[in-house]
Order: sequence, then structure tokens, then C-alpha cells
Amino acid sequence: MKNYDVVIIGGGPAGATVGQYLKEQGINYLVIERGTNYRDKVCAGGVPVGIMDVLPVSKRNFERVEYDTLTVDFRATLESTVKIDRPFMYGVARTEFDHFLREGLNVHYNEKFVMFEREKNGVVVHTDKAVYRTKFLVGADGVGSRVSILSGLAKKRRFILAEEKETPLEDKDKVNNVKIFLGYNRFGYGWIFPKKDHRSSGSGALQKYFLHSKGTVNKFDRSKRQTKIHPISLWGGEEVLTDGRIGLAGEAGNLVDPFTAGGIYPAVLSGKLLAQSIEKALKKGKSNLYEYNELLMDKMYEEFRYALFLSKMFYPFIPLIKKVILSRSVMQQAMEYASNGYISYKKFFEKVRKTRKIHIKIAYFLVKMFANK
Ligand SMILES: Cc1cc2nc3c(=O)[nH]c(=O)nc-3n(C[C@H](O)[C@H](O)[C@H](O)COP(=O)(O)OP(=O)(O)OC[C@H]3O[C@@H](n4cnc5c(N)ncnc54)[C@H](O)[C@@H]3O)c2cc1C
Repeated sequence: MKNYDVVIIGGGPAGATVGQYLKEQGINYLVIERGTNYRDKVCAGGVPVGIMDVLPVSKRNFERVEYDTLTVDFRATLESTVKIDRPFMYGVARTEFDHFLREGLNVHYNEKFVMFEREKNGVVVHTDKAVYRTKFLVGADGVGSRVSILSGLAKKRRFILAEEKETPLEDKDKVNNVKIFLGYNRFGYGWIFPKKDHRSSGSGALQKYFLHSKGTVNKFDRSKRQTKIHPISLWGGEEVLTDGRIGLAGEAGNLVDPFTAGGIYPAVLSGKLLAQSIEKALKKGKSNLYEYNELLMDKMYEEFRYALFLSKMFYPFIPLIKKVILSRSVMQQAMEYASNGYISYKKFFEKVRKTRKIHIKIAYFLVKMFANK
């Protein structure tokens, strides 16, 4: 049986980030990935520019499209387009992006995690090919996380269902232009993210509303490509993501932004935080990862709380506030804000609270009352 300091299940953005940070510290780790080296992942690939601050330095030079133009459409009746002078978001093709993040790591591909057993001084990990002994086990195995199921951590409760298709670029597609579609589905939105050679078009909504809006993507992208449907496990409140020597990162721990349903940035950030906690635990000879929970509280959960609140304020009221959302000044401000890094929901609410505009204050408190019911 081979011994490791850390075994990581899953080689998506969360698992690859944990691996890269551990590798930098010379820690003896293994990544187990059930897919192939170039595994397919259904994803629009929209990434906040703030990802540069959390990726390992050696992984910041990734292939990307830089978006400087945003179009927002409301049911094909209203449309607004704004361009700024710098990127407000990046677009990545997931197969290449994930492969790049894993490059240089010790990965066993085509190997599937099956179960683990706890021991006094470690964890025994069983895959369909081998058995390993490790001091710490990382579950970075995404939405269907088996590590989460077997450990009882991060039960999956709040889902988005999303449909998506990929179509070769046409002449009319502008590569630097993200398009967002509002008003077609309740508690959700649609998108077109162009990449270098194709566009990812999709639409998603909270699980209970998805069926009413299934097929929405075909209303704004009429290409006859196959649509794939996938769940996204949203963050629904603070949760402890460690138990002894086991820790969860990324979507395995429901770490998906509850406003945008974006999971790539939270996967990378949580992967970095978990690697930091493991490194300290190994140095101090600890048998738990409590510090990771504190880091999550400090660096992620507070922002997610505001994001959840914003989602309750925003999605049900889109038809009422569509003209505000689509106004050039609001769109421009949001893009400028995003272009400075990861949008801070907390700072946004602090601004709203401090506004002198009495109608915004009244609207804010009314929505707050309604949203908390
Ligand atoms: C349609 C759609 C569009 C999306 N668009 C965006 C977007 O534009 N921007 C954004 O930020 N997020 C988006 N997301 C969400 C994002 O894709 C995920 O949240 C993100 O991939 C989570 O990263 P992760 O590393 O936690 O998990 P994953 O990327 O899912 O990686 C988990 C890995 O674990 C492996 N694995 C699973 N089980 C096992 C096992 N038993 N043994 C070994 N390996 C295993 C899988 O093969 C996979 O490689 C979208 C999701 C969907 C479905």
C-alpha cells in the first residue's frame, strides 16, 4: 500500500489548486481523477478577473478570451450593450483550462475513488485500482461528491439545473461580448459566452423552476446543437467542511456563488485555503483541519451570505427593475466594479445602505423584509 501525506479526489479547479499549492511546499500528494487527461466538463467558463489573485503564480498565464463588452437582454423586448476599456471578465474552455491547472501534478487518471476508512493516524483510500494510506483526504470531486456523501459533510440541498450547448462561432459572434438573458426563467438567467472557436450558450434556474423554462436556451440561440443538462450545487448557508483528517473544497462542499452560480473562482479560492490549512496541520503534527473552517468563515461565507441575499432581492423582481438593470450607467458601474477583481457583495450592500437616495433606501428595506420571510 502506498503512503501519501495528502490524497486529493478530483482534478477539477478545486483539486488541481490544492495539488499545485501542496506541490509548491514539497508535500507528498496524489490526485485521483476518474476522467481522462482532457476530460469534458459542461460549463460556460466565465471567470472573474479576480481569479488572478488566488491562482498559484505559475498558473496565471492561462488561455482565455477577455470580455470587455456586456449585452443584457430582457425577453427580446429590451436590450442594452456597454463596452469598457479593459476586461471585466475572462472566458475559458474548461477542458483546456482544467488540463493547464493540472499540468505538472502527480495525477492518476482513469481511476475512480470508491470509499475510505478512518484509522488512528490517517485515512485508507480505496479506488477501483488500488488502496492508499494518507494523513489527509481532500474531497474535490464536484457536484456528485462521493467523499461528501460518505463523510456526511456538505449535504446537497439547493440546486440550479442548467442546460448548455456549444456551437462553432459564426460571423455575427463578437468574441469579446458576453450576453446575458433575463426574464425567460424564474430565479435564473441565460448566457452566451463566446470562446476562441465556439460559443457556450445556456440557461439555468433553481431546480423547482427549471422545468417551466426548459428549452429557454433555444429562444436566444437557435443553433441545432445537442443541449446537455447538469446540476450545480449552490451554497445555502455556513457549513463545516472538515471532519478530522477529511476536508472538502469546491463544489463538493457546495462552494458555488449563490448569486451567479459561478463555481470556478470559489473552487480555486477554497482549494488554496484548504492547502494552507493542510500545510500547517502537517507542520504542527495536527490530526484535524479546524483552521480551514475559520478561513472559510473569514474569506468566503460572509460574501456568500450577501450574495444569497442579493439573489433573493434580484431574481423575483427582474420584471419590475429591468429598466434600472439595463440602464447604461448601472451596467457600466457593474462592469467597472468587476474589472477591479472579484465583486464584493458586502461592499455593494454597504454602498446601498449608505445611499442618501430615499427611494433606494425604502426599496432596500422592503425587499429585505420580503426576502427574509
Ligand atoms: C452548465 C454549467 C455552466 C456553468 N458555468 C459556469 C461559469 O460560467 N462560471 C463558473 O465559475 N462556474 C460555472 N459552472 C459551475 C462550475 O462548472 C463548477 O462549480 C466547477 O467546475 C467546480 O469545480 P470543482 O473543481 O469543485 O469540481 P469539478 O470541476 O466538477 O471537478 C470535479 C472532478 O472530480 C472528478 N471526480 C468526481 N467523482 C470522482 C471519483 N469518484 N473519483 C475520482 N474522480 C472523481 C470529476 O471527474 C471532476 O474532474 C457551471 C456549471 C454548469 C453545469
